[in-house]
Amino acid sequence: MGGSGGDRSHSPPRRATGWGRDGPPVTRYDAVVVGSGPNGLAAAVTLARAGLAVHVVEGADRPGGGCRTDERTLPGFRHDVCSAAHPLLALSPFFADPAFDGLRADLLHPGVPFAHPLDGGAAAVAHRSLDETADALGPDGAAYRRLLGPLVAHADDLAAGALAPLRNVPRHPATMARFGRDGLRSLGRLVGRFADEPARALLAGAGAHGARPHSAPMTAGVALLLTAAAHAVGWPVVAGGSAGITDALLAELGRLGGSIQTGRWVGRLDELPEAEVVLLDVAPAALPELVGPTLPDAYRRAVGRFRHGPGVCKVDWALSGPVPWTAAACRSAGTLHLGGTAAEVAAAEADVGAGRHPDRPYCIVVQPGVADRSRAGSAGEVLWAYCHVPAGSDRDMTAAVEAQIERFAPGFGDLVLARTTVTAAGMAAYDPNYVGGDIGGGAATLLQTVSRPVPTWNPYRVPVEGVYLCSSSTPPGAGVHGMCGVYAARTVLHDRFGGPPPFAR
Ligand SMILES: Cc1cc2nc3c(=O)[nH]c(=O)nc-3n(C[C@H](O)[C@H](O)[C@H](O)COP(=O)(O)OP(=O)(O)OC[C@H]3O[C@@H](n4cnc5c(N)ncnc54)[C@H](O)[C@@H]3O)c2cc1C
Repeated sequence: MGGSGGDRSHSPPRRATGWGRDGPPVTRYDAVVVGSGPNGLAAAVTLARAGLAVHVVEGADRPGGGCRTDERTLPGFRHDVCSAAHPLLALSPFFADPAFDGLRADLLHPGVPFAHPLDGGAAAVAHRSLDETADALGPDGAAYRRLLGPLVAHADDLAAGALAPLRNVPRHPATMARFGRDGLRSLGRLVGRFADEPARALLAGAGAHGARPHSAPMTAGVALLLTAAAHAVGWPVVAGGSAGITDALLAELGRLGGSIQTGRWVGRLDELPEAEVVLLDVAPAALPELVGPTLPDAYRRAVGRFRHGPGVCKVDWALSGPVPWTAAACRSAGTLHLGGTAAEVAAAEADVGAGRHPDRPYCIVVQPGVADRSRAGSAGEVLWAYCHVPAGSDRDMTAAVEAQIERFAPGFGDLVLARTTVTAAGMAAYDPNYVGGDIGGGAATLLQTVSRPVPTWNPYRVPVEGVYLCSSSTPPGAGVHGMCGVYAARTVLHDRFGGPPPFAR
């Protein structure tokens, strides 16, 4: 790294030697970012916008981390390798910048953001319209409207508060107080407020994205945020696949003069080009080896206590046609939550929490073709799904996931042209940030949601001169929103380049 400490908060922005798109090769950067996931690239863009010379080093042979798309089953079938549905991107203050107008124009909205099929051909449906959704929930409609209405009406305020490290009195305290009042509870309690299965299943399916037991505190918050997003901004897919997010971030970084090198795994920070600061888009478990003996013992022990969540087993299919869901509304839904009743979903997730593989797992399924015809053209459809499994599992869950799809879409199996499965262990091998196959960057416990990876006021600072963490293992955590990178970059700008306090409103 070789950064001189200097006056931490008042050193002026500096350009690296020879920096500039057309200039000679750079010999010293202001900032090097290790890892090009959405958080690494959001950090890089934020720093480059402040005039810093930024370079990104990525281990994989292509950039993007959780935002990549490839032909993993058959030629011509383009699958999202990781992220596929993007409510958090649509909510994110970072992606609201005009620089991403093109990307936002590429967000394609399915007719129905998400649906939850039930046995017997019915389905609970989250429409874009809150009213349409509530009206279909019968006796639970009024309670649903009361719960979600204020959050949907102030979705920008909700996003500014929930996609942030929660270190300030929120700019919109009423919205956040309401979100906190209901969201701090367990998902089980939230679901218990509703009388009929459709409302219960709808919220249980959304909240189960958090991969936590439904009895755990704060699990209701995931359901509220994701359901409010469905009504306020939708659950879009990206035209051509989530690699488009990476392309947009790289285009912006390039426009600002930043650069990237792929195919270079970083084992130790002293292998990096010289820079004032280094931002790490990595899992906390990687820090001891990356940083080496200068990492203080207390911090080393603290990150050693960081808890990861369960893993996922993911399946991609090339299909000859659309999935024949029994419930008509499911045929136009971008995302489906499979697992049956709220109680069944909770039981499946409890199994995973206890280290067991559920026989009937809760599955998240995305069918991008309902909004984006470019994924397979006239050749058919791509289908994406995962289920939760115990951390580190190498069990292939394809049969169990397919049985859940067949349960709500008889005849599905006849459409399968090809499939590819990645176990939780395979997920960790694909991207070292997905420790044990945990795609959330760490368990979303109460403490680890407020402060991750260690309980400290500013968790982006690693207690080593010039080293910062910017991955989803920092607040606000999992998902493609870029805000972990943004807050890490703001911390850097404050600490070393005279920027304002990182959590200033
Ligand atoms: C199967 C799956 C499905 C998902 N679905 C969704 C979804 O639908 N919607 C959503 O919003 N989110 C989804 N997510 C979560 C989302 O993808 C992540 O939260 C997000 O990608 C985290 O971004 P990140 O930048 O923190 O890390 P990552 O995206 O994991 O990027 C980290 C990058 O750092 C690189 N790296 C790590 N260590 C090193 C090193 N030592 N040297 C060099 N490079 C290194 C990695 O190769 C990787 O490219 C999903 C994730 C997975 C895996």
